[in-house]
Amino acid sequence: MFARSILFLSLALGTISGCSKEEAPSKAAPTSEKKESAEKGHAPTGVKPGSHEDWCSEHEVPESQCTRCNPDLIPAFKATNDWCPEHGLPESQCKICNPEIVIKRPPKGS
Ligand SMILES: [Zn+2]
Ligand SMILES: [Zn+2]
Repeated sequence: MFARSILFLSLALGTISGCSKEEAPSKAAPTSEKKESAEKGHAPTGVKPGSHEDWCSEHEVPESQCTRCNPDLIPAFKATNDWCPEHGLPESQCKICNPEIVIKRPPKGS
């Protein structure tokens, strides 16, 4: 929405100033491409929940509880009232509402 209006504005300004060149400003380019996150420190599928390997380094929560990687988990959190609608996170993972939360990665080889 915002990016589109910037683009529109710059196009309009370009027209007004008589510049007919099609120079799309790279700043306004949308960067919401979904990248494959396999190399970002995510757990492989099938790891034991609660193990050292079960960890999402990108979001610093157990991968098996990472709603940002696995949106399928969201209904389960909502069902237990563990959900922060404001930030779209489980309340137990929402450090914005609960800055005291410390989620520690389980130690290796338990
Ligand atoms: Zn994640
Ligand atoms: Zn929150």
